[in-house]
Amino acid sequence: MKILVVEDERKLADYLHKGLSEHSFVVDVARDGIDGKYLAIEGQYDLLILDIMLPGIDGLALLHAVRQVKATPILMLTARDRIEDRVHGLQQGADDYLVKPFAFSELLARVRALLRRGGAVQESAVLRLADLEVDLIRRKATRSGQRLDLSAKEFSLLTLLMQRKGEILAKTTLAEQVWDMNFDSDTNVVEVAVRRLRAKLDDPFSAKLLQTVRGMGYVLEERSE
Ligand code: CA
Repeated sequence: MKILVVEDERKLADYLHKGLSEHSFVVDVARDGIDGKYLAIEGQYDLLILDIMLPGIDGLALLHAVRQVKATPILMLTARDRIEDRVHGLQQGADDYLVKPFAFSELLARVRALLRRGGAVQESAVLRLADLEVDLIRRKATRSGQRLDLSAKEFSLLTLLMQRKGEILAKTTLAEQVWDMNFDSDTNVVEVAVRRLRAKLDDPFSAKLLQTVRGMGYVLEERSE
């Protein structure tokens, strides 16, 4: 498994290189956004770890550039624990976030989870369920070939549900992963977004894919009835 780390702080870059190498990953390090962009796009990596504050091209611009051409899983690192950065990053297609400072064990757990999830993503950038197709590179979703007109947030929500199809996802999980809101936040925003997504995804079609599991959350799956 090959990982690219784009991080300008030498100590942290060395620490990540050493730690990940010790766990049998092959690690390349770029110390600025320009080298990072070149390697991320031209190289073959299973995962990218991108810092946000970088010289040359910042991590969000780099993320955006990579997402135009690749669906490689991306973990963003940021010292700026500001919700706008995270929301912006997720909209641009980051798969996960870690706020500095973090424990290496936490990073390793996230890396492994992304690689497990990314396995399917790597084989195909198009996720499918029944007549629904979600194209992660072009960032578009279709049902029976008809394009669904989704907002960035609705697309992120649908992508998460698709990546974990068949699994019941709690509102709090969706709130955390799509909106970066805390467990105790108002999950009404999730309900509203699910309603909007469902109106576009399911209402025009006879087979309903987005199911509500009372008291538990939501699951994307094909039901036979
Ligand atoms: Ca930095």
